[in-house]
Amino acid sequence: MQVDEIRACVESLRGELLDLAQELVRIPSITGEETEAQQFLAERWQRWGLAVDLWIPDREEVARHPAFCNDGLPIERVNIVAQWGQGDPKHAALILNGHMDVVPVGDRARWTDDPFAGRIHEGVFFGRGSCDMKAGLAAASIAVRAAQELGVIPDRPVLLQSVIGEETGGLGTLSTILRGYRADAAVIMEPTNLVMCPVAAGALSFRLRIPGRSTHGATPDTGVSAIEKFLPLWQALRELESRRHDGFHHPAFGTDKLVAPISIGTLHAGDWPSTVPDAALVEGRYGIFPGEDPSTARREFEEAITHLSSEDGWLSKHPIHLEWFEGQFEPGETPPDAPILQQLAECHRDITGQALRSQGVPYGNDLRLFTRYANVPAVLYGPGDVLQAHAANECIPVEEVFTAAEVLALLVCRTASARI
Ligand SMILES: [Zn+2]
Repeated sequence: MQVDEIRACVESLRGELLDLAQELVRIPSITGEETEAQQFLAERWQRWGLAVDLWIPDREEVARHPAFCNDGLPIERVNIVAQWGQGDPKHAALILNGHMDVVPVGDRARWTDDPFAGRIHEGVFFGRGSCDMKAGLAAASIAVRAAQELGVIPDRPVLLQSVIGEETGGLGTLSTILRGYRADAAVIMEPTNLVMCPVAAGALSFRLRIPGRSTHGATPDTGVSAIEKFLPLWQALRELESRRHDGFHHPAFGTDKLVAPISIGTLHAGDWPSTVPDAALVEGRYGIFPGEDPSTARREFEEAITHLSSEDGWLSKHPIHLEWFEGQFEPGETPPDAPILQQLAECHRDITGQALRSQGVPYGNDLRLFTRYANVPAVLYGPGDVLQAHAANECIPVEEVFTAAEVLALLVCRTASARI
């Protein structure tokens, strides 16, 4: 089969692709509330004649797994996998994985449109989840649809996975792994601007409680301000971040950007303007390098906090309390000789006429679950810019979505059938 035939087939499905992406955005599916959108997509896949497995993860089973991140949300949410082609889904040719959950819209006033209108304006598709990553999920679905339309008979199955809870630690993908789904490789349609990302840094969420001693703001030297104790802590974390990057080199990352940043996300302290605050609560994310053992990284962080406390008269007697919580994203990495890297590069080149760029990403995602716990080489590759993910007026250029669908359709056909 010629590349042109596959291209023409995807071209004929453009309307269907955009409709599907718009319909998905119009069903809000904020993490924890994915079920309606998942049922919609399952029905669509069924209509195409795909065998759909729809299930609710078993809380006890996932909770026993070392990669489980407890997001505190009810577990009664639907995960779905569609199988195209006969054969054992434990030995599939390819997995195309996307998450259905989206993050909340934030301040609505910052959106020009209703975040769930799914509007397309001058070649740009807007809406919460448009970029991260419902357009990618729709493109992958249409890639399989195109292979069906072309009459390809797969030697081995291709699996479409639409998963829950990615934003809070990967419950959905973990559950597909526990259910036994495996393939030669997985492509996760995260927005990478059609760059291939076989390496992902990790991130651990931390919470620090800084003790102080309250007193009247008119006599601050009789108390201890927890806010003022935050300042040396912040400095110590900056130094830790810089020290950790000193010896780090990886071919998938340039030297101009941080690979494992330490970033403070929330800071709460005090309850009255004229009271010296007796506590500060700080939450953040601690970047983990690819290949780094998270427990070693945790120890390094803990030592930095202990060292800071030991040098401070107050903190040495009232130490900062550290807690690791919720998202504990380990790093993940697919070896450079994994066949999927070459296969995807060839499909990308045959469709776009350009060489596929490859780089690592500094954020946690589901890639690690495939590489660490399923022995499935995995890459991120999808339409859209990661800077649009989680942003107000989130959007994605529709042309890039079509290109992704063409590349994925070619990949689906070539991996599923040796005759193509
Ligand atoms: Zn995402």
